Amino acid sequence: MSVNLLDYDADALAALMVEYGEKPFRAKQLLKWIHQRGVADFEQMTDIAKTFRGKLAAGALVKSPDLLAEHVASDGTVKWLLDVGVGNGIETVFIPEDDRGTLCISSQVGCALDCSFCSTAKQGFNRNLSVGEIIGQLWWAENRLTAEQARIGAPAQEDGRIVSNVVMMGMGEPLANFDNVVAALRLMLDDNAYGLSRRRVTLSTSGLVPAMDRLRDACPVALAVSLHAPNDALRDEIVPINKKYPLAELMAACNRYLDKAPRDFITFEYVMLEGVNDQPEHARQLVALVRDVPCKINLIPFNPFPNSGYNRSSRDAILAFRDIVAEAGYIVTVRKTRGDDIDAACGQLAGQVKDRTKRTQRAQGAQTITFRS
Ligand code: SAH
Repeated sequence: MSVNLLDYDADALAALMVEYGEKPFRAKQLLKWIHQRGVADFEQMTDIAKTFRGKLAAGALVKSPDLLAEHVASDGTVKWLLDVGVGNGIETVFIPEDDRGTLCISSQVGCALDCSFCSTAKQGFNRNLSVGEIIGQLWWAENRLTAEQARIGAPAQEDGRIVSNVVMMGMGEPLANFDNVVAALRLMLDDNAYGLSRRRVTLSTSGLVPAMDRLRDACPVALAVSLHAPNDALRDEIVPINKKYPLAELMAACNRYLDKAPRDFITFEYVMLEGVNDQPEHARQLVALVRDVPCKINLIPFNPFPNSGYNRSSRDAILAFRDIVAEAGYIVTVRKTRGDDIDAACGQLAGQVKDRTKRTQRAQGAQTITFRS
């Protein structure tokens, strides 16, 4: 069986080169062809000797997950459903803005953490994604978007890249798939691959404390923590991993992480659930909770999905909550909901292959893909 070179980060690829009887520096050439230029056909890799190209073609390939469906929202957000085998689909979302293009990447098929307000959780956990399936989402998106940009004649970005930022905020808990996620992060940061700065790669976690420490040592990138509740009783209920790693431990882990983080703050995500965690007293508890952690707070209006059992907080409730937090001296933003008309917003990624009809119909009024200028 052929090996998929998307599964290899720089070190692993250098080791593979040695197995092939080649010099380790060949890995750099390969990384550039694969990840910088998006080339999958070894014959096009002209600075690699023809005989070695032949060997590679016989035993290796470069393959990202196949496309099952593409939806473009009225605000330009694009969602791809990608095939990861045996009826499983994962979702990847591209969010174009004026000054950046953000790709939201999945790390698992389903999720085991069972947060009560998340649609991915309702599927249960199926499996971890491989390195190639994780980085393959970025590889796929760059290639797809570059082709589209050329097709419509839109000007290219100065740096030649369309995706400028990555958020590990798609399906799954990235820190529960630690090794594969870290290898994929290393490729995102590698100058021979995507060359993204650590500040432009954000990993979001529900708070797996020991893995947060490991990430700090292995590959510190910007960190977002899904807080969602300002006290243990409520967080136990809506983010059940809290029973294992309660808030005091989580706050301490955040501060340890900041020792090596590329940014000098943690982003706390806080989903606004009507009547559950959105009252003024919750805002005051939140301010007290995060007192010792340099942070920014991002309020996420709840994105509904069928049978979720929750409603989005009213605009007034969100703004009142925001004002209490802001008056206490914190930077607090309300996340703009993007792509909700194609179910691409936070917490809506379900990835199932079945029952797409309604979504496909809704996507028919969709626009073309747009790019940052
Ligand atoms: N498991 C990781 C990565 C998922 S990131 C984590 O929990 O951080 C996705 C973000 O969207 C998380 O902050 C998650 O809590 C939030 N989210 C989940 N369901 C949501 C919903 N229905 N509406 C708004 N945000 C939601």
